[in-house]
Amino acid sequence: MPQLPYACSICGWKGTEHPTEPGDGAMCPNCGCLVYPRAWSDSWGLAILLIGVCVGLVALVAFTF
Ligand SMILES: [Zn+2]
Repeated sequence: MPQLPYACSICGWKGTEHPTEPGDGAMCPNCGCLVYPRAWSDSWGLAILLIGVCVGLVALVAFTF
């Protein structure tokens, strides 16, 4: 299994680990809590931003005309 980039939201640790849990989760070597790959939150953050922009544009057009 390749190592994946992780960032722990509990203690702030950042680094690469081998996934050990289902769903590409791994144990944080600093505090021992479950962490998920950074790529997930990055892509979901972008997707939510794009959805928000689309909804905003539709609402703007709907209320203008
Ligand atoms: Zn941690």
